[in-house]
Amino acid sequence: MTRAAPALVIVGASYAGTQLAASARELGFDAPIVMLGEEPHAPYQRPPLSKGVLTGKTAVDALALRGADFFDAQGIDLRLGQRATALDPAARTVTLADGTTLDYGWLALATGARCRPLQVPGSTLAGVFNLRTLDDALRVSDALATATRACVIGGGFIGLEVASALAARGAAVTVVESQPRLLARSFPPAMSTYLADAHRQRDVELVLGHGVRALHGASGQVRQVELDDGRRIECDMVVLGIGVQPNVELARQAGIACDNGILADALGRTSAPDVIAIGDVANMALAACPGAPARARLESIQAANDGARAAASALVGRPQPFEGVPWFWSDQHQLKLQMAGLPMPGDEVVARGDMRADRFSLFYLREGALVASHSVNRPAEHMLSRKLIARRARIDPRQLRDESFDLKTLHG
Ligand code: NAP
Repeated sequence: MTRAAPALVIVGASYAGTQLAASARELGFDAPIVMLGEEPHAPYQRPPLSKGVLTGKTAVDALALRGADFFDAQGIDLRLGQRATALDPAARTVTLADGTTLDYGWLALATGARCRPLQVPGSTLAGVFNLRTLDDALRVSDALATATRACVIGGGFIGLEVASALAARGAAVTVVESQPRLLARSFPPAMSTYLADAHRQRDVELVLGHGVRALHGASGQVRQVELDDGRRIECDMVVLGIGVQPNVELARQAGIACDNGILADALGRTSAPDVIAIGDVANMALAACPGAPARARLESIQAANDGARAAASALVGRPQPFEGVPWFWSDQHQLKLQMAGLPMPGDEVVARGDMRADRFSLFYLREGALVASHSVNRPAEHMLSRKLIARRARIDPRQLRDESFDLKTLHG
């Protein structure tokens, strides 16, 4: 009896899983690839879900991550609506919800993250939405057809992007954030203050430093959000953006080391042989990443794609560790926020440009070297800063501040 070649089985069909399959093929990996997606949709772009899909500017059929024939053409067996329920690293098998068992030669866990639940009375009322998947976004968009007052719980990236989109659709929007300032874990106080002003100027009401005690409804439909001080916000829909938690259950149950995600090295390798972890679920070592911690669970498309490329390089025996400068973006109202590197408290912050005109960058220096930047409507400065951060460029703060100084001369 001939045995089939060992397959690469990828659990998860979003950015990391798709990129791993694509990069493996590009690098000449010729074993079978099976990619399992829990959702019924082929891999799709997520950033528009909290923006253009809600405003109606992005059509759903424009969201495909890859062309319709990509998976067939690349010999990638994409199986949708399939949930993996168990993993046995010793037997090299993964079991699906329908009882099917697949053998693997290599297994990639690209299981992503799910929304943190809001654990207060009333959180299961109709009109309370998460926003993570395409189906979530379509539900929120449908609700907007009749809703006029929305409450967004969480002032992180999802909350602020959704607030912008709902305001653009004409809803009265209140954002409730439990921290005393917006995006407190990603931004220094100056950026949080700038963003709070920007949202308030565009008629988004902000309630900062307050948690939610309960949601109240009438006839099963949410009508009020009760804050921890007893105040109540009237609304006819609620969108939750209170963070995510990594989907580590398969790995944990299989005895794979986890700590805020699945622990992986800079090639995605976990504590189990031939099991890799990539994307939002992976707490990945950051090889030679200037100014960054030794490892991080980065919730970004860039980290998913670059981590997947690194893992693919290891699969074909030509390892190229994950070592890019982390970068992210967010669109809120007319503001294009772009972030590079990972700033830390204590970094020297240098401003360039005009905050009041919504065109500026903040640069973060650590021991004289550029480690991070946050730009608003300054894409060229963002792109340049990524190169300078990668080079650990030492820059005179006076040059950064001086708008007449051409920063491009710093990157020879
Ligand atoms: P997030 O960025 O972690 O922000 C969630 C915010 O909600 C935090 O400030 C959190 O405070 C606060 N919060 C938690 N519980 C709360 C409560 N009960 N009441 C009020 N506020 C509460 O998460 P997110 O905005 O939900 O985003 C989810 C994921 O989507 C992340 O992976 C994010 O990176 C990704 N995403 C990225 C982008 C982008 O890069 N442009 C855009 C959209 C989404 P604590 O910190 O105290 O918990």
